[in-house]
This record gives sequence, C-alpha cells and structure tokens, in this order.
Amino acid sequence: MTNIENQGRWANSVQANYGQPQISLDHGIGAEVWDIEGKRYLDFLGGIATNILGHAHPEIVAAISQQAGKLSHVSNFYMHEGVITLAEKLKSFTGDTEARVFFCNSGAEANEAALKLSRLTGRKKIVATAGAFHGRTMGALSLTGQPSKRDPFKPLLKGITHVPFGDSKAMRKAVTPKTAMVIVEPILGEHGVVVPPVGYLKAIREICDATGALMIVDAVQTGMGRTGTWFGYEYAGIMPDVITLAKGLGGGLPLGAMIALGRTAHLFTPGSHGTTFGGNPIACAAANAAIAVIEREGYLQRNIEFELEIKAGLSSLPQVQEVRGQGLLLGVVFKAEIATALYPKFLSAGLLVNAPNNSVIRIAPPLSVTPEQIAEFIALFSEVVTNHG
Ligand SMILES: *Cc1c(COP(=O)(O)O)cnc(C)c1O
Repeated sequence: MTNIENQGRWANSVQANYGQPQISLDHGIGAEVWDIEGKRYLDFLGGIATNILGHAHPEIVAAISQQAGKLSHVSNFYMHEGVITLAEKLKSFTGDTEARVFFCNSGAEANEAALKLSRLTGRKKIVATAGAFHGRTMGALSLTGQPSKRDPFKPLLKGITHVPFGDSKAMRKAVTPKTAMVIVEPILGEHGVVVPPVGYLKAIREICDATGALMIVDAVQTGMGRTGTWFGYEYAGIMPDVITLAKGLGGGLPLGAMIALGRTAHLFTPGSHGTTFGGNPIACAAANAAIAVIEREGYLQRNIEFELEIKAGLSSLPQVQEVRGQGLLLGVVFKAEIATALYPKFLSAGLLVNAPNNSVIRIAPPLSVTPEQIAEFIALFSEVVTNHG
C-alpha cells in the first residue's frame, strides 16, 4: 500500500469529518514514526498530546501485554487492582484526602461527568470561557467556546455563559450565587496554546469561593505532567473542586477521569452516573506504567528544561513573534498568517506538528523525547520556516 492508495480507501470508507489525512502511519518508537512508504517523521504532536511516553514504550508494551494476557474488561460490577492503584495515585497527586475518581474513556466524557456532578449542587447555571475546548458531545460542546464547532448543532444546553479567557473582571461579573460551576483550561490547548495572565486561576478560585460555584479545571491537555506539574494548575497555588483528565492519562490508550475534591467528592451516589468501559484494566495498566516511568525519570522537571531550550531556539527566528506555553505544550506564534501554508512543508521535512489556526503551530511531543530529538526538531523547524521566507 502507498499513502495515495490509502487516501482513496479512507475517503471511500471513513466519514469526512476529519478531512483527508495525507499519510498513513505504520510503526513508531518514542518520538519517531514511520509511514507505510518507510519515510521517517519526528512526532512532535504525540497523537495530539496523548502519547505521553511516545510509541511502543517498552514498559507500556509490557504492562498492556501482561494485563491482556490476564484479564480483559470486568465492568464496574467488580474491582481490579489496576483501577484502585490508579485512583489512589491520582488522588495522591491532588493532595486532597477527600478526592474520589470517576473513570471514563475520553475528555468529553470526563467533562460530561463534571457537568452532571455540578447539577447535583442544585444549581444550573454555568460559566465557561470563549475559545476553550471541552469536547464534542452535546454537553461538552455546550461548554466549548468555539462558535464554528457549536453553531451547526444548536440548540445546545441552556444557561451557559462564555466570557473572554484570561479576563477575571468578566468572570467576576458572570458568576453569581446561581452558578453551579465554572470550567477553565489552565492553558487553552486547541485554541492555539494561550496562556492566561498571572493570577487568573487564583482569581477564579476566589470568585468561586465567594459565590459557592464549583471550579472545574479541564486538565485534559495540560495534565499528566506535560506542563511541568501533574495537572497544570498547581503553580497557581490553588485547589480546584473538580479536575478532568484524558489525552495523556492512558499512555496512548483511551482513558479519561474526573477527580472530585473536597465537598464535591461525595456528590455522586450509587446510580448517579456510569460508563461501561470506564476503568478498563488494560487502559489502567498503561496509565499506571506511564506514571511510574514519569516519576522515576523525573520528566516533570525535565519538561521545563526542554521548554526553555525550544523557546530559546525558535524565538530568534525573524518570522516568529513568540513561543508560548509551558513544559511540552508549546505554541509557536508567527508574525504572519503562515501556519497553514507551512504545514505540508513540515510534513515533507519529516516533522509532525499541527496548526490550530493560521498563525500558530502547536507542539506536544512525548515527555520521553530525547535531547537529540529536541535539537533535531529545532533545526528542522528553523530550516522549514527559513526556506518559506
Ligand atoms: C481534547 C480535549 C478535550 C476532549 O477530549 P476528547 O477525548 O477528544 O473527548 C477536552 N478538553 C480539552 C482541554 C482537550 O484538549
């Protein structure tokens, strides 16, 4: 098979909602992948921030294989070791002894769970931020602040207000004692890696405390150590009421989680919510293995060194306005609208990245990326941008 042949097969059998991918990937190791024609790529998108340890990490492969050879899906009628271990671990990362975890399969489902949990406060109104991405199912889409994704599917959930991201004054005005929850991404991921002003998360915490609204941190993209802490909000010195996770959590397998803290931890009672595949043993095995490696290798701290290296390496390009973001979730912002035109050039140069809009290239490589691959990335990226003019 060739990439062209697979383009035809895809177009004739897969829904058109993702557009037409150009290449068909065959195998990978760490931050490198090969397509079916044998061309090598540096994978700096990491399956959209999901492959927290890249492809075919030996410890994840071993954990998945062992689990698959032992016990497949058990449902939540029964316990198994992996799901308890993972819940205990995530709970310990929050630092809250009351925290309780609900497992699901995706980011949208984690946010749906948070939405339902907030209804159990007896309040109905919700405040979210413009530009934010919280998923595509009808509830999560109602939280998402991107008109192009929302408008074709109206009517959505009622009672949701979107305020400008990073604007704590607008947030203070919108949140009232009728507000059930406020949901916020520590860094806007899908919207082009937008970092809020210093003090923003802290201000939201204060607004929620003053009104009794729940503060939901959507850490689906910033979480699992990608931004230098486990969830991406810790630098603000706050504790949210709910944390949602997915993407990197399953080490490349589909796994999501909603962690409810403090007074919210016990809002769900038997029968409140559920999902068949939540806490799947194979997905939990991958997550537990990934967390063990991240802790042992000290990747949280190392991410910050790579961040500084990439920022130093690319900021000086004349086409680049700034490199923003934290840890290994970075957006290269161009002075002109060239990101979409650059995209195919990155692909031919053997670099997988993505363009969330026409002036930003987003990178989210695996945390296990090597210093040599970081250097290769900076060189390749600079070359493509320089040749583009
Ligand atoms: C990707 C993403 C989601 C949605 O996750 P899915 O697994 O695609 O449903 C939600 N929130 C954020 C911040 C995301 O980046």
